[in-house]
Amino acid sequence: MRAPLIAANWKMHMTREPAGRLAGDIVRGLAGLDGVQVVLCPPATALDVVARVLAGTPILLGAQTMHWETQGAYTGELSPPMLVDAGCRAVILGHSERRRYFGETDDGVGKKVRAALAHRLVPIACVGERLEEREAGSTDAVVVRQVRAAVAGSDAEALSSLVVAYEPVWAIGTGRHATGREADRVAALIRRTLAESAGPVAGRVRILYGGSVTPGNIGEFLEQPEIDGALVGGASLDAQAFIAIARAACRAGSP
Ligand code: PEP
Repeated sequence: MRAPLIAANWKMHMTREPAGRLAGDIVRGLAGLDGVQVVLCPPATALDVVARVLAGTPILLGAQTMHWETQGAYTGELSPPMLVDAGCRAVILGHSERRRYFGETDDGVGKKVRAALAHRLVPIACVGERLEEREAGSTDAVVVRQVRAAVAGSDAEALSSLVVAYEPVWAIGTGRHATGREADRVAALIRRTLAESAGPVAGRVRILYGGSVTPGNIGEFLEQPEIDGALVGGASLDAQAFIAIARAACRAGSP
């Protein structure tokens, strides 16, 4: 049984004070909620503030990206030990905005996943096709290529903590979303691809859907057998919307 997971990607939004307030509202709104793992990924400048708000709660702190090296001459980058030191337990890797605007490659995402696992950070590896790839009928080929690269060289047993977020790029921040059935079909493909390198451990990997998730559509994804939660962008900036999404996942995850 895979525990449902709902992760918030706040992207490049919020300075420290509003970030702390939003985290506090979410902590209060989810107090006592059991059966769903929640991760908040604020911008790097707000990690310490949000870490303080989350201390003593079951909500995990995550980062939005990181470098694969432990230290070195990589101006502007943050390393795995730096994230651990800041209180992070998880990190989003290979988000489509990182791939599109900052040149992240499949190979780089693989290095980052290996580095995250080595430092006991939960990697949330993002995969997904662009609109033109979908229209060309290459969704499956793109997703399989990205998943294989993300797990290349990783120890099979260590991959049990991996999280893969299937985020069709055309659905991110657009208000358009995949249907639950289509997302589930791709999630099943992701799991089969993971099984090539991780064997039975693939059954323990959590697969999220991401792309314009709201309280109104989360139910459609949570009812799918291969989908274990969501990576939420825009709606995670609204405490009440995010709380409603996490509560829905808790209900879906209870026996
Ligand atoms: C994201 O950025 O990972 C995302 C899913 O964004 P949104 O929910 O706004 O589509």
